[in-house]
Amino acid sequence: MSRGYNFSAGPAALPEEVLRQAQAELLEWQGARASVMEISHRGKDFIALAEEAERDLRELLAVPANYKVLFLQGGATQHFAQIPLNFARRDQSVDYVLTGDWSEKAAKEAKPLAQVRIAATSSATNYDRITPRGEWSLDPNAAYVHVTPNETIRGVEFHEVPDVGNVPLIGDVSSTILSRPLDVSKYALLYAGAQKNIGPSGLVVMIVRDDLLERCPKDIPKIFNYAEHAAQGSMLNTPNTWGWYLAGLVFKWVKRQGGVAAMEARNRAKAELLYGYIDDSGYYRNPVEKSARSWMNAPFTLPREELDSVFLKESEAAGLLALKGHRAVGGMRASIYNAISIEGVQALVDFMRDFAKRNG
Ligand code: PMP
Repeated sequence: MSRGYNFSAGPAALPEEVLRQAQAELLEWQGARASVMEISHRGKDFIALAEEAERDLRELLAVPANYKVLFLQGGATQHFAQIPLNFARRDQSVDYVLTGDWSEKAAKEAKPLAQVRIAATSSATNYDRITPRGEWSLDPNAAYVHVTPNETIRGVEFHEVPDVGNVPLIGDVSSTILSRPLDVSKYALLYAGAQKNIGPSGLVVMIVRDDLLERCPKDIPKIFNYAEHAAQGSMLNTPNTWGWYLAGLVFKWVKRQGGVAAMEARNRAKAELLYGYIDDSGYYRNPVEKSARSWMNAPFTLPREELDSVFLKESEAAGLLALKGHRAVGGMRASIYNAISIEGVQALVDFMRDFAKRNG
């Protein structure tokens, strides 16, 4: 087998143990005499699986009882639009904090549906930092404040949850969920596309406080209405059963690793190893302010752009996959989600050191 260390930003590496288990039960799932992909989502076997996945996620993130956990579809992008549709009136203001490309996109999608205010933006410095909370201009009457706790493209992460008073805080945690403990109670709503730390694409996990769901308007189509999805246990229509199943396997895997506290220790060590090397190398460079560097996505540049293609070719050959940076930034990006071990990061650093020596 020639599986490499996969540094893709998403769809991203999944734990090998999970893939092996899925492979072993692909044709016949737990005595169902069919694949888990081939059975009704309304049958008792699948319902049991679905409930167990929800229980495990609740346990992992200590989700308070007054929050619903939803397993939805559409990618995080659909929810950029669906969130304002559900939680803001057209004449109401909504505050967006821009820390990178994804928060920018979220704000743009909300524009046709509410009065979007940009409460803070670090675009002037190419999103290399997070505007300090003290410099945000928040509207106390806003329907909600939206933040992106980890910006996948430029590798910028909030290391603390901002205090926004009584206005509901909404977080797009697509690329940070399960990487460390998360104080759910500080948010009114969290949502995440699954394809980084949870499972395959096509699944969105949402954690939403009950009082927010009461705001969902009655005059929008049911399929867009979160309160309807919650009332139907995320089975208003056929859910992504395969994604839900794999997410369940990943939640069990995270629990076996010791939960999110163990993931935090591992992810902190991985980030320190990689950024520590980048900073010491005098060769590679990460542009993000140290206090805002992401534990999950580390972009870096080489001293000369013409080295990029050589670096990519050689790293690929060495089994270090998908290091090409996002087209908006260039250079390289190593996404080091939960499924990447410290050995994987060490292999990357060893390669980078050797490459720098040979291409000084
Ligand atoms: N938000 C963040 C933080 C992301 O990283 C991504 C995708 N990489 C998205 C939103 C968009 O997700 P999707 O493609 O699932 O719509």
